Amino acid sequence: MKTALVIAIDGPSGAGKSSSSRQLAERLGYRYIDTGALYRIIGLLAWERHVSTDDSEGLAVLCRDLPLRFVSDPSGARILLGERDITTAIRQPEVSQMASKVSAQPAVRQALLILQRQMGQDGGVVLEGRDIGTVVFPDADVKFFLDASPEERGRRRHDELQQQGVTTTLEATLREMAERDQRDSERAHAPLRRAEDAIVVDSTTLALEEVVSLLLQHVAAVRKC
Ligand code: C5P
Repeated sequence: MKTALVIAIDGPSGAGKSSSSRQLAERLGYRYIDTGALYRIIGLLAWERHVSTDDSEGLAVLCRDLPLRFVSDPSGARILLGERDITTAIRQPEVSQMASKVSAQPAVRQALLILQRQMGQDGGVVLEGRDIGTVVFPDADVKFFLDASPEERGRRRHDELQQQGVTTTLEATLREMAERDQRDSERAHAPLRRAEDAIVVDSTTLALEEVVSLLLQHVAAVRKC
């Protein structure tokens, strides 16, 4: 039986990647790596430090030696940058847009590619993102492409933001998501697209538990090979 697999989960925002990836990792006893959080951190820093999203050199500097820590406590997973807890700050809608803009810069992608490969190299991981199965781990043991209708994705993302204490409307969330998905899919470097060997899961009408059990079934089949 294969152990310590690398599992890649890609797809557009709001497709249910975060919740299902986290639960899949928990069920398998694997580490969960939210690669979008890395782009969000660079987006947050660029925003706060007034580094232009076109300033490739300035953005590359932000990626260097990030004092990052992912910690688990009773209130859930927290992300620390130095001593600062940035868990909520990186979820702000402005930061989502900044993340999507900085992620189009090859210098940022290159720096974070190295970091992501280091984080996943020992296997036993579920990595969630946009280009995990195509670029970061093209030889991943299992690849999923998770999708859902735009309306459903918007609704989920809005609920998620509300739970995180971010105030916004459903209309604004739908607009923000459509803009981001278009930018993520049309960028020249590592755009959002399905890897040819990825298993497509449409979660529009599925409950979270149903998605997770579907993912687990596919993983179990690969483990037996
Ligand atoms: O997944 P999340 O919505 O947190 O990602 C924020 C942004 O980071 C995305 O809109 C995308 O532009 C970028 N991203 C990326 N590649 C990844 C993960 C996220 O370009 N692997």
